[in-house]
Amino acid sequence: MSTTIDEMPNTLTRPAAPPSSAIADARNLLRETAAALELDPGIQEILASPERSLTVNFPVVMDDGSIEVFTGYRVQHSGARGPFKGGIRYHPAVSLEETTVLAMLMTWKCAVLDLPFGGAKGGVKCDPRRFSQAELERLTRRYTMAIRPIIGPHRDIPAPDINTNQQVMAWMVDTLSQVDDASAMASVTGKPIALGGSQGRSRATGKGISVVALELLRAHDRDPAQTTVAVQGFGNVGRSAALALFEAGCKVVAISDISTGLYRPEGLDIAAIAEHLDHLPNGLLESYDAPGISRISNEELLEMAVDLLVPAALEGQITGANAHRVRAWAIVEGANGPVTAEADEILDAAGVIVVPDILANAGGVVVSHLEWVQDLQGLFWDEAQVEDRLQERMARAFADVAHRATEQGITLRQAAYRLAVSRVAEAVHWRGCTG
Ligand code: GLU
Repeated sequence: MSTTIDEMPNTLTRPAAPPSSAIADARNLLRETAAALELDPGIQEILASPERSLTVNFPVVMDDGSIEVFTGYRVQHSGARGPFKGGIRYHPAVSLEETTVLAMLMTWKCAVLDLPFGGAKGGVKCDPRRFSQAELERLTRRYTMAIRPIIGPHRDIPAPDINTNQQVMAWMVDTLSQVDDASAMASVTGKPIALGGSQGRSRATGKGISVVALELLRAHDRDPAQTTVAVQGFGNVGRSAALALFEAGCKVVAISDISTGLYRPEGLDIAAIAEHLDHLPNGLLESYDAPGISRISNEELLEMAVDLLVPAALEGQITGANAHRVRAWAIVEGANGPVTAEADEILDAAGVIVVPDILANAGGVVVSHLEWVQDLQGLFWDEAQVEDRLQERMARAFADVAHRATEQGITLRQAAYRLAVSRVAEAVHWRGCTG
């Protein structure tokens, strides 16, 4: 059983873009989308703010006997289309603002993929790297109790996000089932298989990224074997994306994490690198070496002349400051919000295709949905069945978004937002708000 913090273990340091610009970007995008859809201003206003934001402060007894008080959040953006859904993040940069933006992104993500969920996000402001396993467990159980009043299988279903993993999800389920004296399997996704988790969940986000990347290549008559790829971030998302693209025959020439970047023009052996990291306690790339590999910085990786660039670390990596130096043919957003609005405009003017996060990295929540369905029905599917469903749903969403983009002469991000916002707005409209 994995006890490492592995949803994204090797995240980068905090990006330059302040969170306040992220919230402004998110609201602007909604405003532009609403204008293009000629949305009722009242419905736009409903969607501009979360339905519920919970801030919790809770104590944790540390191993040395001292007490520390932590602040956590759970923000529920829109429940119009179904129970709220979204991950839990442990990171020093977690804030109410960041959690709010990410909750809104989850609403759009679930809607683009046509999942019967609304959007939420949670997090605890902390540096999990300085905790022992026992401290991490106590923090998780306390946080779970603090947000328990608003979560549940038909209310709000948490999942892993940055620095949380299947072990954290297992503690959450156990805490909920103890206090409610009932099974809480369907209350959390991203669980271990032994605890009602789904086959294929741990690699789902990367698999989904590769599905949309391959669909993009197909739409442009490009051969995967002739396609070069650079992946920023080698945590759960970056690593599974690099591996899936490598297995699909693409040439992954550059990868990076917090410790270093690796570059090999003939392509890196991602399977061998992943295997090497499995035997390391810290899972960092710095100790890996093989003939023909040179070291590069994260900045160099982002500015490489590759076909596909997959930023799969934190938000705000490609900004107004470096967007004009991007030389990739297309960017596939593995992380949530890695390209700022300012960068988006620069990239669009330069003809760089951007597959937006709400489509590209939705593989995780797609398999979370499959996990939730399996838990509710008490009947489980094998890996091939899960992968077929993931492949089918991601490919369909890509086709829907690409079709709209071509038809209306707009970017893939604009098309994805129009699709998502119109679906959520329709649900809000049918519900009405007079009662
Ligand atoms: N944290 C992942 C995301 O941002 C997964 C969320 C989920 O499965 O609910 O999409």
